[in-house]
Amino acid sequence: MLQAGRCFYCRGPLGARPEADHFIPRVRCGVDAVENLVLADRVCNNDKRDLLPGPPLVAAWARRNEHHGGRLAQLAKASRWDTDPEAASAVARSIYSHLPKGGTPLWLGIGSVGKEDPATVLAALAAAGRPHGRLLVLPGSKLWHVFGTEGRHERSTAGINRTRG
Ligand SMILES: [Zn+2]
Repeated sequence: MLQAGRCFYCRGPLGARPEADHFIPRVRCGVDAVENLVLADRVCNNDKRDLLPGPPLVAAWARRNEHHGGRLAQLAKASRWDTDPEAASAVARSIYSHLPKGGTPLWLGIGSVGKEDPATVLAALAAAGRPHGRLLVLPGSKLWHVFGTEGRHERSTAGINRTRG
């Protein structure tokens, strides 16, 4: 998936059995869209587990989704997978903006966990320049509903946002 046969995390060769990893871990969000998936080798995938990725990885992920959004959408369509770049970016923004500063371990690579300031991650996301969806988390549920992005909102008539999720 746009990775030239290399692991998204360590850039080593993926080998014969790459694994699809939820970049923002599934326990943190329910976004199955292709934009939240990366291919990783087993070592990285096992080491990352349910940890949130750290700033450099988030920057690389945001850039991938920004620069290869069209290709990702094509791949998703061809494999009948869900595509939702706004949800992926909005969920990431929401999660990192609610992390206590220096209080959450972030995965930086194999064997490397740090407690970087989540603000660094938010800056990386902002730099990628995606329009951000508005996010509503229903209390007591894992459902995330993303209402239309600003861009879509502008195009819609009567300002009615489409509900998804
Ligand atoms: Zn790897």
